[in-house]
Amino acid sequence: MSQSLLTPIGKKVQLSDFDPRYTSGDWDKDSAAEKIETNTAITRDLAYRLFAENRRAVLLVLQGMDTSGKDGTIRTVLTGINPQSCQITSFKVPSQEELDHDFLWRIHQAVPRRGEIGIFNRSHYEDVLVVRVHKLVAEKEWQSRYDRINEFEQLLIEGGVTIVKCFLHINNEEQKQRLQARLVDPTKRWKFNSGDLSERKLWDEYQHAYEDVLTLCNTAHAPWHIIPADRKWYRNLVVSEILREQLEQLDPQFPPSEPGIENLVVE
Ligand code: ADP
Repeated sequence: MSQSLLTPIGKKVQLSDFDPRYTSGDWDKDSAAEKIETNTAITRDLAYRLFAENRRAVLLVLQGMDTSGKDGTIRTVLTGINPQSCQITSFKVPSQEELDHDFLWRIHQAVPRRGEIGIFNRSHYEDVLVVRVHKLVAEKEWQSRYDRINEFEQLLIEGGVTIVKCFLHINNEEQKQRLQARLVDPTKRWKFNSGDLSERKLWDEYQHAYEDVLTLCNTAHAPWHIIPADRKWYRNLVVSEILREQLEQLDPQFPPSEPGIENLVVE
C-alpha cells in the first residue's frame, strides 16, 4: 500500500496531500474481500487470546466526516469477534451530566478494560472538532485540549491500552453522493437528518480542524492513520489490516493453567 497512512510526528498535515480515492494497485474489490475475511479470522483468534490473557486492551478510535463510513467499518472489522470481548461506544452530543464534568470524563469511563477491544465511534476528538467549529467553548479552552488529549492517551498506554487512531478520509463530492443516496433509498432514509446539510456547509472549517487534530495529536505513542475512504472496500481492507497487525504485535498469550491439571479426569 504505497500512499503512506502515517505522517511524520510534528509535520503539519494537509489533507489535500492525501487522496481519498486512493487504492493500491495490488488490490481489487474481490481480492480485498478475501483478505478481509482472513484478517477478521486472525483478529477473532487474537481477540480471544487477548481476552484470556486479561492483561492488556486495544482501543480503536474512528473519526471522520459525516457519511465517512464509521458504522460500516465497525460492521466489517468486528465480524465474528466474540461480543463479550469487545465494546463499541458511540459518542453523541454530551448529556447535561457529561457537560458538568471535564470533557474526558465520559471518555475515560468507556475505555476498554483489560482483555477487551474497545471501539470509539467518534471520540474525545469531537471536543476539538465540532466543539471548535461551532464555538461551543472559548478558543483558549479548546486550544489547551490537544495537550490534554495527548497526556490522556499517554496515561492509557501506560495502563496497557494500545490506541489505534483512524481518520476515514472522504472527499466533498463523495459525501454529497452518499447523502443523496440516503435520501433516495427508503432503507437508508432513516440515517438522514437535516442537520447533516448545515454541517456539510461547514466542510472547510471541519477539514481545517481535522488537519490540526492530525498534526497536534499525531504522537509516537498514538499516531494517526489517514485512511483513504472513498472506496468502501479499500477503507475496510486498510482498517482490518491495521487492527490485525496491532494485535499480532501484541501477541497475546493464554495464561498458564493451574499446575498438574492436564491429567485430571472429570468424573
Ligand atoms: P453519527 O453521526 O455518529 O452516526 P449522530 O447522528 O447521533 O451519530 O451524531 C452524533 C452527533 O454528536 C454528531 O453531530 C457529533 O458532532 C455530536 N457530538 C459528539 N461528541 C460531541 C461533543 N463532545 N460535543 C458536541 N457534540 C458532539
